[in-house]
Amino acid sequence: MKYLLIIGDGMADDPVPALDDKTPLEVADKPVIDDLSRRGLLGSTVNCPKQFEPGSATAIMSIFGADPLKYYHGRGPLEAAAQGIQLADGDMACRCNMVALEDADTPYSQRRILSHSAGSIDGETSDKLVTELWQSPEFAALAREYDIEINPGSSFRHFAVMHHADIDGIRLIPPHDHLGEVIGPLAPSGCAAAEKLGRLQEAAFRFLDRHPLNEARRAAGKLPANGIWFWAEGTAAILPDFAAKYGHTGEVVSAVPLVRGIARLSGLPAPLVPGVTGEIDTNWDGKCQKTIEILSRCDFAALHIEAPDECTHNGDTPGKLQSIAWLDSRETAPIVEYLRSTGEDFRILILSDHKTLTSNRAHDGSPVPFLLYDSRERTCSGRSYTEKNGLAAGVFVPAGTALLDMLFEK
Ligand SMILES: [Zn+2]
Repeated sequence: MKYLLIIGDGMADDPVPALDDKTPLEVADKPVIDDLSRRGLLGSTVNCPKQFEPGSATAIMSIFGADPLKYYHGRGPLEAAAQGIQLADGDMACRCNMVALEDADTPYSQRRILSHSAGSIDGETSDKLVTELWQSPEFAALAREYDIEINPGSSFRHFAVMHHADIDGIRLIPPHDHLGEVIGPLAPSGCAAAEKLGRLQEAAFRFLDRHPLNEARRAAGKLPANGIWFWAEGTAAILPDFAAKYGHTGEVVSAVPLVRGIARLSGLPAPLVPGVTGEIDTNWDGKCQKTIEILSRCDFAALHIEAPDECTHNGDTPGKLQSIAWLDSRETAPIVEYLRSTGEDFRILILSDHKTLTSNRAHDGSPVPFLLYDSRERTCSGRSYTEKNGLAAGVFVPAGTALLDMLFEK
């Protein structure tokens, strides 16, 4: 028996007026996933416990069987693990996004956040900007004083580690949930460490706003990467061992550090496929081939596709529909074809980790649909894979932490 997990990040949604009040999952062309859904078990689950902000950190942990209520101490350390960053006692790890702040004639704190990814900035420019920032005189002096280091992440996602940081009471805001809002009320707050991060964000703006690379981006009609944004803080994380928990092992294919970090902390290798971006221009075929290659030698493979989530944050509905269609035609279809060709039985779990809403471009923690297909075809839902059908089909799994038990028939 082979086991496959496919996660379409943020592909679930609410009905969208511009789509005739249908959801992207209802509109997108995904014949193979719908066929698996009709010939498999369909249901709904909740991956984001209400106690936390909804998002992939808690959702992906739940799916991999690590109960966030027990194991979640912030997102930063999970992502840091993917970069091979080791945290010592007293270290705080957090995300440092390159963001686009409004070009306006107003003070820093009154500018709006236009993009949480500096317009999906390319990795090379992003690394260059953040590296030069940490070397620029004013910023470098502050960074030394506050004992904070940067690990460039080759996308809009960089990782900061602050040593000897007391983050009790800290409040950092995920920028993708506040697009179009002014910085003022969103700035880091709640403790002395937060004040330091706020000062660093402001100093970064002073260095980055008129940087030649940003002037070039503006001239090319792109958003400037004229700000940094700290969020997703946390202290060291320890997760349950996947092989010990499930009696199976395998590997995880994903572009995003969060997912690869959760995998590594669970004891699962997460090889990085060349050319993956976590966006719609990712290396779709490379990820598919890698997943097939893993399935040829392990009993479990997980494939995570970030594009639907990023497209939604970017307000790109056609991109969201396209990425769901490609998840179907360029990932699921060839992998299922491969599995059928081996003659061995297989089980596939496909789901969206959380909803990402077109209406506000933010995450939502309400139930998401999942499908569980077994090549022996003992159950047949008769329904396509959509939010409504997932709820109507009657299988409700209150916590996503039970999903892999179901996949592995525990
Ligand atoms: Zn997201």
